[in-house]
Amino acid sequence: MHFINVILPIPLPKLFTYKITEAESRFLKRGVRVAVEFGKRKMYTALVYEIHQDAPKGYDAKDIHQILDETPIVNETQLNHWQWISEYYMCTLGDVFRAALPSAFLLESETAVLKNEEFTDETVLTDEEFLIFEALQHHSELNVNQVINILEKKTVFPILKSMIDKEAILLKERIYEQYKPKLVKYVRLNPIYTDNKLNDLLESLNRAKKQRDAVLTYFQLNASKKPIKAKDLETESGSSSAIIKALVTKGIFEFYFIQKDRINFKGETNKLKTLNEFQSKALEEIQESFKSKQVTLLHGITSSGKTEIYAELIKQQLKKGKQVLYLLPEIALTTQLIDRLQEYFGEQVSVFHSKYSMNERVEVWNNVLENRSKAQIVLGARSSLFMPFSNLGLIIVDEEHETSYKQFDPAPRYHARDASIVLSHLHKAKVLLGSATPSIESYQNAKEDKYGFVELKRRHGNVLLPEIELVDIKEKHRKKRMKGHFSDRLLKLIEEALEQKEQIILFQNRRGFAPIVECETCGVAPQCPNCDVSLTYHKYKNELRCHYCGHLQAMQYNCGACGSEKLNNKGFGTEQIEQELNELYPNVNIGRMDLDTTRGKYGYQKIIGQFQAQEIDILVGTQMLSKGLDFSNVTLVGVLNADNMLNFPDFRAHERSFQMLVQVSGRAGRAKKRGKVAIQSFNPYHQILQQVSINDYETMFKEQLQERWQFKYPPYYRIIKITLKHRDFLKVDSGVLWLGKSLANIFGEHVLGPTVPGVARVRNEYIRTIAIKIPPKQSLKATKKNIDRIKNTFQAVKDFRPIKFIIDVDNY
Ligand code: ADP
Ligand code: ZN
Ligand code: ZN
Repeated sequence: MHFINVILPIPLPKLFTYKITEAESRFLKRGVRVAVEFGKRKMYTALVYEIHQDAPKGYDAKDIHQILDETPIVNETQLNHWQWISEYYMCTLGDVFRAALPSAFLLESETAVLKNEEFTDETVLTDEEFLIFEALQHHSELNVNQVINILEKKTVFPILKSMIDKEAILLKERIYEQYKPKLVKYVRLNPIYTDNKLNDLLESLNRAKKQRDAVLTYFQLNASKKPIKAKDLETESGSSSAIIKALVTKGIFEFYFIQKDRINFKGETNKLKTLNEFQSKALEEIQESFKSKQVTLLHGITSSGKTEIYAELIKQQLKKGKQVLYLLPEIALTTQLIDRLQEYFGEQVSVFHSKYSMNERVEVWNNVLENRSKAQIVLGARSSLFMPFSNLGLIIVDEEHETSYKQFDPAPRYHARDASIVLSHLHKAKVLLGSATPSIESYQNAKEDKYGFVELKRRHGNVLLPEIELVDIKEKHRKKRMKGHFSDRLLKLIEEALEQKEQIILFQNRRGFAPIVECETCGVAPQCPNCDVSLTYHKYKNELRCHYCGHLQAMQYNCGACGSEKLNNKGFGTEQIEQELNELYPNVNIGRMDLDTTRGKYGYQKIIGQFQAQEIDILVGTQMLSKGLDFSNVTLVGVLNADNMLNFPDFRAHERSFQMLVQVSGRAGRAKKRGKVAIQSFNPYHQILQQVSINDYETMFKEQLQERWQFKYPPYYRIIKITLKHRDFLKVDSGVLWLGKSLANIFGEHVLGPTVPGVARVRNEYIRTIAIKIPPKQSLKATKKNIDRIKNTFQAVKDFRPIKFIIDVDNY
């Protein structure tokens, strides 16, 4: 008798066993998918993990339905990596399996399919496929069980897969956005026309009056120093596209495009930039460090040109025929980087993104699996770690300090930086961590010589780091020198920059208009009905929203508690800043970048593109502005209020504030001129603000490290956090008390809590947390074993079983 143990894409603590035939046993391999039935006649896609001859104990193994792949779609290295993730982060292999594979690979009975409205050529469909296609003319969607009924057979996954490949159907629950790149056409004067040749030029056009007018209008528009759209030139000069085209044909004007197609790169590649002397030195040091160290940290200040060094390292790997994984904190923000890398490596760059369509993701997966040259470089956010690499030579973790590398929900709750280091061991590859503001953990590892360490302390072109000014707004308020949320000083700097036609970034770490609407009479603020949190006012749509569950309702004009009409806005967000600016500077173009304005796959691209094209003069935004953007014309960065992040109740609040402020300051003055930064605060003497103002990472690091030691936090102590959730308040409460006691029996003083978190109810579930601190010498393995044991006992109590039990390891 032959059996397989499979991973099911559900959180089962153990692998499940199925029966296979002798012939199947010879054909099947680890990493091949099979369709199986599990539970009450539910179909799943499972992954073969082991092939053996031992019947399972306690149940009769069922037959599999079908083999779905001819060759493995997941390789041995991946399976080993998954194993590590599930052990280290205390989750099931099923959790990892579900997170790792594009959903198109995971058909199951619940999966619903839809007709692809753009599909027209029915002749490519087989008879069975056509039956399904026809059924979809009458039903808006079908789930897999319905498909089984229509075809009167159980083995339907391959048929659906084939229809997906032919783009006849789509999986539901995915949002599809067809990307049609918008190419904006700009004109510029052919550079051969230098100032002393302009008269000749105009003279040569004496007999072509309209063309001459167009050139004159061009000179006028050009005075603003902004790129000139072909369309604008046409309207302003009262000419036509034919006239402009004629000037291009004559070689007087040139067309160029600012936004490029980011996905299907077709253009030419350029040579890499020549490294400056500091970059060359850093590159050499990194190579030297790679000889003895698995991981190297590159601490390079903002705009020092880390990307150019990465590009060199990538080039070397490609020469050796190796694959490169380039991890980024948030892929949506990095269109600029994709452009830069495509400029160098063209089609060899593949981007993997959870917002991309199913087909795009499957395509990247298959390219990597087959080690095609198209996917030699994979660029992506944390989940691109799960690609089927076979030949990885280098992993770059850019902005390694970023918190978005950690997945909080759902399991696996992994940290992509840490998991990538383990992955590099499996491939015998190297890891380069890069940041201008490294995490305390990584810097400590470098100091202790666990990681190699390389510094890059000059900005490219020797531009100085921006001059940072702290503005005391307590004082300004007292002296009545505030206009709304702006001090007179910040306004002056803004006006100076506007005068010079330079661009400005303003940073406000909150979106929305005024986070809270409060009744002046009784003090009550409208609350979310599902969460214990006040609703946020969004002026543009005049509604109140919950940032936790998405609940929204119309703005109210009377207090729900006392009926008073005196509702007041407390605090402030990006939207309000935008409005104040519009009132202060009615003739200036103001843009806003936050979660609300950047929805959709290309939301960011649009705003970034507009800012780059200088259609926006002042960009107001949340922390997403701080991440790796490179705009050459920005000379001023303003931070409206640094205090709320410093006062955040988290042991990392100071480290995070430092990182965020240094990063956002780094957006100023990147090209030629030294930039300026103004940080407004009620407490400018705060040590972190002082350290930011002189870019003193080292002192920040030392002080924070001391505090971490004193208060028993990472990097000295590790933290495992347990969260319990349930709709019944009493149940969670008694559960968490029980759990707290059991944990304290073993871990004593190292148990923190039970705690009621700041937002104690989300989506109608009550939340309680407990943290376990693990001292440096205590075995992590043994600790986890104990926690697991207590969890099992907890879940054996009938009353507690329905409570959600969430474990988060290294809850940074
Ligand atoms: P970082 O990632 O360290 O903040 P970037 O890699 O974005 O810095 O570089 C900052 C700017 O300087 C970019 O516009 C980049 O093109 C430019 N730059 C960096 N190094 C060079 C070089 N060696 N030659 C020309 N331009 C460079
Ligand atoms: Zn809510
Ligand atoms: Zn009231």
